Amino acid sequence: MAQDGITGVVSLEPEQGEKVRGIAAGLGTDFDDSEFTRPELMESRRTGDIGLVHSWELVTAVDGPGTRMTIFMSGCPLRCLYCHNPDTMEMKEGTLERVEDVVKRVIRYRPVFNASGGGLTISGGEPLFQIAFTRRVLKEVHDAGIHTTIDTSGNLGSRLTDEDLESIDLVLLDVKSGDEDTYMKVTSRTLQPTIDFGNRLNRLGKKVWVRFVLVPGLTDSDENVNNVADIVEKWKDNVERVEVLPFHNMGADKWQNIGMEYTLDDVTPPSRELLDHVRGIFKSRGLTTF
Ligand code: SF4
Repeated sequence: MAQDGITGVVSLEPEQGEKVRGIAAGLGTDFDDSEFTRPELMESRRTGDIGLVHSWELVTAVDGPGTRMTIFMSGCPLRCLYCHNPDTMEMKEGTLERVEDVVKRVIRYRPVFNASGGGLTISGGEPLFQIAFTRRVLKEVHDAGIHTTIDTSGNLGSRLTDEDLESIDLVLLDVKSGDEDTYMKVTSRTLQPTIDFGNRLNRLGKKVWVRFVLVPGLTDSDENVNNVADIVEKWKDNVERVEVLPFHNMGADKWQNIGMEYTLDDVTPPSRELLDHVRGIFKSRGLTTF
């Protein structure tokens, strides 16, 4: 498995598992990775000429303002128990795409973005896992006058330079829990990199929408929610909104399909009362909350 999305190698050899083609088909043009030797391919991925794209879709009213093209990148360092896209965690699925093909495709939708106030969102997986590719797509799309967003846990935020951030109009920052123990339980990683990234975005005055997934029995204690609110309250100046997203079980089948154990089968979505209560905690801090 690729360890960091830069030096790692996509699973191209049969013994490493089959690379599923076609999910992101239509994003690129006629790219055939057999044109490349393995070292050439690795070099292209290091420079960001090529990225492994899991899939993409056109969506409205999620993943940022307006109608958006959301590109889901493969690879993620976290292992969230509730992940809806566990098939993006490892660099195994997707299609290899050239930067220029992806950018061309995004620009084709410019009239839709202009009409709706939308743009491009790079999600995943973790968009910063394949940083070289993501950086180049963001810059070229932003330079073309299109609104850009990333949907990130912030865990790899230090990979973005200040210059990279100039090509990003909005950061959707997932704060998955408010203390190290709960964060580790939920994601198998540490919270501090997310706080560091959020602090940096705050210093730079970058627009942020915070997202928090409410999972009964896992993230819903008042203590945890207040811990998240404590963190976000410090970023009040640049956080435009907090979105409390109710847990649902719709990703469960995907975990089974890829042979991973899903542990939240018995968890039910939060009640309306619980959602209102948690949103109320954020609102009581003066944060615009949905
Ligand atoms: S950060 Fe996102 S893609 Fe990565 S494991 Fe968590 S929910 Fe899944």
